[in-house]
Amino acid sequence: MDVIKIALVGIGKIARDQHLPALSADPRFELVATASRHGSIEGVTAFQDISELLKAVEVDAVSLCTPPQVRHELAAAALEAGKHVMLEKPPGATLSEVEHLRGLAADKGLTLHATWHSRFAPAVEPARAWLAERKVRSAKITWKEDVRVWHPGQEWIFEAGGLGVFDPGINALSIVTRILPQPFFLTSAELHVPENRQAPIAAELAFKDAAGNPVTAEFDFLQTGPQSWDIDVETDRGALKLTHGGAKMFVDGALTHEGPDREYPGLYAHFAELIANGESDVDVSPLRHVADAFLLGRHTAAPAFDY
Ligand code: NAP
Repeated sequence: MDVIKIALVGIGKIARDQHLPALSADPRFELVATASRHGSIEGVTAFQDISELLKAVEVDAVSLCTPPQVRHELAAAALEAGKHVMLEKPPGATLSEVEHLRGLAADKGLTLHATWHSRFAPAVEPARAWLAERKVRSAKITWKEDVRVWHPGQEWIFEAGGLGVFDPGINALSIVTRILPQPFFLTSAELHVPENRQAPIAAELAFKDAAGNPVTAEFDFLQTGPQSWDIDVETDRGALKLTHGGAKMFVDGALTHEGPDREYPGLYAHFAELIANGESDVDVSPLRHVADAFLLGRHTAAPAFDY
């Protein structure tokens, strides 16, 4: 297959930390241009606007690394121009706009890849296989991190559509929607929104699965000291624990799987395969759970937050 000429849009933290190294190491891709109002990458043709880029440079694909609030317009422009598109998580600010992109890609015979990087953590597929052979009794998500460390100065995350603590929380939801054998549904939620912000800084969620078993989640953006990205699942035959965002798996306390961080190389390998096969991968289930929490959740005022 020919090398896929790709453009990166939105040169911020995740573009630099993960997309660039993953693309540099993957011979299936050639990074030929960027579009970002302020950011650029040394040695790569830079534009401030995606429409200028699409007019001036021949690319096969566009990978969008902006915040979700502006993603739909950029993705639609790229698809309209005949480019395959990869979306950072969450795939959009609303479910409807993602459905629009799905339809556009299908109409044009293009690949749309709505990525969930945490699903490529090394212990996620082993956990899925282990749980597929057991009856789940309960599941508990604990996702607590320090927003000042992981999202320094990112004002967009606390604006409407930025998801607040659901920006990391959706990573946990992307894992549980992959590994739990049964679908689950929100029954109640409490969202703590700082009085000077639009999006929650902490949340507690309660779900039940189709068999009535409880699934709970605790999200917190103010965790200092050790950080928690854990999922505990009790089953009829043992207890599973995923830690470090899905990098390690324990069964009844014993480590069974761990591996190096290959999340973004995995995402680009999958994108290349989807393009080669003429397919798309757009699973909105993690975003749907977040939308449900914003629909059903009680909003309580939390102290003002500043970086
Ligand atoms: P970021 O550091 O703020 O970078 C996003 C870039 O998008 C900005 O540098 C900005 O570049 C561009 N942009 C375009 N429109 C914007 C707007 N209205 N407001 C702010 N920036 C805008 O954010 P990030 O951490 O890279 O996150 C981007 C996406 O990646 C999010 O959806 C996030 O959930 C996802 N993600 C982040 C991480 C992480 O650890 N940070 C991990 C996985 C996934 P210009 O000013 O040059 O246009």
